[in-house]
Amino acid sequence: MVGLLPGSLTLSDLYYILVGYVFALIIISIILLYIVKKKLDIKFWKKILNFSKKKNKEIFKIILVILLILIILYSGIRFAIYSLDQSTSVKVDKKIMIIELDDYWNIEDVENYERYGYTFDQFIPVTDTISKYGFRATLGVTPYIFDESTKENIPLIEDQQMIDYLKKLSDEGYELGMHGYNHCRNQYHCPKYEEVWFNVYNGKRELENIFNIQFNSYFPPGNYWTTEQYENVKRAGFKIIGNTHVPKAYFDSDVIITQKGYDPIYHYGWHAIDFRHTPYEEWIDEYEKDNLFILQLHPNTFDTLEKLDDLDKFLAYVKNDDVQVMTYKEFYDYISQKKKDKGVQLSAKGNIKQ
Ligand SMILES: [Zn+2]
Repeated sequence: MVGLLPGSLTLSDLYYILVGYVFALIIISIILLYIVKKKLDIKFWKKILNFSKKKNKEIFKIILVILLILIILYSGIRFAIYSLDQSTSVKVDKKIMIIELDDYWNIEDVENYERYGYTFDQFIPVTDTISKYGFRATLGVTPYIFDESTKENIPLIEDQQMIDYLKKLSDEGYELGMHGYNHCRNQYHCPKYEEVWFNVYNGKRELENIFNIQFNSYFPPGNYWTTEQYENVKRAGFKIIGNTHVPKAYFDSDVIITQKGYDPIYHYGWHAIDFRHTPYEEWIDEYEKDNLFILQLHPNTFDTLEKLDDLDKFLAYVKNDDVQVMTYKEFYDYISQKKKDKGVQLSAKGNIKQ
């Protein structure tokens, strides 16, 4: 989350490793202390015991001092973890919801994807339902799609209907984000495909050329995440990176990294295409949990009217709640502005320059 140390170990990783070792040492010291104090007759300790019988008081004092030092060290590291978390976590001071819709690519030239619901008949009602309430979502777009049957990369630029649909939504205020290069996690056909700099950088450039806008948000395909990919995504200039491994939103310098969104629709079993979903009351439970709620949906999984109906009911509930629905980029701008304002306030009150 915070600046990387040599060997791609983050500062928080280091703290967590240290705190584990120190805690183990504390336990060992307590056991030693107990053995020496109680003069326990364990075979393994017999030699120490003979020695400690003579110098029991001195040994007790030494171990006690070591224990105290360790406890102080442990508290210190715990405090460092806490303050690191405080200084890097994104503070959300009001109820905000982000809607993320994933998997927009060339659906015209990959016919075998049709049976998974990659059709406009399924895509359009989802965005229509969101628009009905005046909400806007962020759409995860990939410049290519890997066709499993032909083992080819099919470019988005050849699906004019999809481009027109996305352009229309973009004009209406929807945000277009990048969702990987070709959405392939097949380790034989595209190993490390999403991670490499060339694909992250060129993918972004190609999308920006197609839509003539800047891409600021990135979501890893399949929610699969590596440090290499993260570093390349940051280097490519993305401002906000969603669906990662963090439990809540964090700052990494001026980049915001957010947790995985809540997806109420899941693939049931492995043998058939069977998408099931949790009832909208559960969506509301999840929504109520925290100030920042990220709803992650895949329009291709809306294969029944019941699912669409639950989305509608959920959005109706949200509409009546005191919440602001934002795209990822709008969230980034809102938080960055808040951070700036706070800095200005500090310099005015306490003469601390930004
Ligand atoms: Zn996806």
